[in-house]
Amino acid sequence: MAFNPVREALLSGKFCHMVELVASRNTREARLLQSASDLANIPEIAGGSVTSYAGGAMGHEPIRVGTAVRARGLTPNIHLTCVNQDRLAIHDLLQDLAAIGIENVFALTGDYPKADGSPPLFDLDSVQLVEMINQVRQRAGVPFFISVAVSPFKYTEADCAYQYLKLEKKIAAGADYAITQLGFDARKFRELKRYLDERGLKTPVLGNVYVLSPRAAEKMSKGEPPGCWVAPELLAKIQEEAQAADKGVAARLERAARMVAILRGLGYAGAYLGGEGNAENLRWIIRRGEELAPNWEEYAEELNYAPPNGFYFYDTPPPPANPLPLFSRFLDTMARLFPVKRQDNRLRRFLAAILGWIDRHPAAAFALEKMELAFKAPVFGCKACGNCVLGEMEYVCPMTCPKSMRNGPCGGTLNGRCEVVDQPCIWVSVYDRAKSANRIDDLKIFIPPPNRALQGTSSFITLFLKRDGRPGNTEPVVTIKGASLSAKPVDDRQSDEHLVKTEKSDR
Ligand code: SF4
Repeated sequence: MAFNPVREALLSGKFCHMVELVASRNTREARLLQSASDLANIPEIAGGSVTSYAGGAMGHEPIRVGTAVRARGLTPNIHLTCVNQDRLAIHDLLQDLAAIGIENVFALTGDYPKADGSPPLFDLDSVQLVEMINQVRQRAGVPFFISVAVSPFKYTEADCAYQYLKLEKKIAAGADYAITQLGFDARKFRELKRYLDERGLKTPVLGNVYVLSPRAAEKMSKGEPPGCWVAPELLAKIQEEAQAADKGVAARLERAARMVAILRGLGYAGAYLGGEGNAENLRWIIRRGEELAPNWEEYAEELNYAPPNGFYFYDTPPPPANPLPLFSRFLDTMARLFPVKRQDNRLRRFLAAILGWIDRHPAAAFALEKMELAFKAPVFGCKACGNCVLGEMEYVCPMTCPKSMRNGPCGGTLNGRCEVVDQPCIWVSVYDRAKSANRIDDLKIFIPPPNRALQGTSSFITLFLKRDGRPGNTEPVVTIKGASLSAKPVDDRQSDEHLVKTEKSDR
């Protein structure tokens, strides 16, 4: 296996640093690459994380930027999002990454695109993406090193608990390490660490240290971009600091260094530095963070920007569960009386025979699909995806999520509200009902991506004839006929002379 400074740093157990390189359209590429060259000279920095689709807008092509970053001596970590690309397109990207010997990928759902137009495509969610990368890694022997996101900075019970559940799913799917969303609350950093430790999960975590400028603080105080939030008290402090002769630069670098110290003290694997492109400032933060580490607890007391009455996983007494809705109880009873979902019993075989007959008669199959939709559309908001997972999602349809996620909420929720449309996040209902029914642990099940070819077909047929994407389905996320993806090990600090032999998928 080739030397990968990011993997080596994380496996060594030594506190490390990664710097976010925002490859947005607003960033001049020459400046970004100059920054990469400068960062490559700072030994404490293990890699540069090259964004894609940051803030919901198309940026520079991340693989091209990543290649150029590597040519300047900095190991890239490429952000791979599910926005507007199907699983085959993502698989092609993985092939391209393997071909150029880039191993580090940051698997993200991605921000909802800002531009108006036809609804964007979210073919996979981030858990399914991790699963797919892991499958490619195992099948083709490409040593992808997978990072995933988690936000401890959620202040309602459902948002918070689901972030942690989803992180567990990502780890089970093959994530190698996690990177937190940005936030300014040491109790939340501590909470995440404790959550993982209590479960014996050794997955390294990089804590996000964002160097907060007044402009960014103002945007984030309004919840922009989704998932980023700055408390009014912190905004006021930053604005006050900006009155100084240096416009608040020294104060914000010091705050960032103290955050690095806190992460060191809490036992994080490292810091993910964002919001600052100046290599000298970053070097200063890193060294100062190390110097301040012995006093980390004092700084942790100060870093307490949170909403009043915010939820803390270990400290807030969880509110009692609501009674399970009557309709959910009825459906649970039916599922108990007719246990056909996963069991291979006589009733299931009988129904499978009937549905097999219907399937062979297109008019009958069409009529069944229409009848199914006539009931499920008004009741569940069904969109006839043909891969029904209502039973795994507490009778909440995943297609009512603007990103069609099947494995938990994205990181964009704010106090239980959706980042895209003005409605409660559907995953709050999923969590609340699971809590009422005492089956929160069942939410950790991996739900594979739907088979899109089944759109508009009856999910009864696809269920009984075992064609759909549902838990327990062992089909690979992408099946590539005759593919021989292989990557010759390359040194990350070399330029691009390597190669791959790949037969493209039949799309
Ligand atoms: S999961 Fe698919 S089949 Fe089930 S209700 Fe939602 S859209 Fe309809």
